Amino acid sequence: MADKKKYNFKCLETECSNRVCCTRPEVNVTTGDLSRWTVANVLQHIMGALELKVPEGEGEVIRMVTARKPLESDSDKTACALYHEESNNCTIRYIRPISCRTFPLQYNGEKFFVSNKQCPGIGQGEVTKEALKEAKELAEEEYDERVETQLALPAIYGMIMAQMIKQSQEAMKNMSPEDLEKLEKMMQKQKDDEKEE
Ligand code: SF4
Repeated sequence: MADKKKYNFKCLETECSNRVCCTRPEVNVTTGDLSRWTVANVLQHIMGALELKVPEGEGEVIRMVTARKPLESDSDKTACALYHEESNNCTIRYIRPISCRTFPLQYNGEKFFVSNKQCPGIGQGEVTKEALKEAKELAEEEYDERVETQLALPAIYGMIMAQMIKQSQEAMKNMSPEDLEKLEKMMQKQKDDEKEE
């Protein structure tokens, strides 16, 4: 793509016909995004729209993504929870995740490519040499952050889980025998219900 063919791109913003940047299957979030949102003092507003995806199949990795919501115009399809359908815009446009800022240009550690050819901004406008250099640098930054996040997340997740287990064990130690019995009954019922399903 960008190395061989000329990369012309201009985001159509609220005039975009399909907003594939917001409706693509997953909007990746990096630890760098979390840091920027913390510094900008907006993390608490965005937190509810974030999710941790734990691996469900082989080859999957733990990742942070934005939550999804069904589109009002087509409930069979979903979009990023931060997409505002009525205004056809992103609710955090000026501090959106790095994967959205670099979209549709992406870097995979070896080459640059267009991650979604459905984006109507591709082929629009003129991209100057300087703008292309900036776009490539941002795509490289996104790649570095994505790799760093993928490496760090399993350890962070493991530590949080271990801490939660430790806290529950501590809490159980302080429970009365009656409450412990109630809890055991509840857990047994849950197991039985799961078996029946
Ligand atoms: S990045 Fe592409 S899909 Fe997203 S609003 Fe801009 S033109 Fe539309």
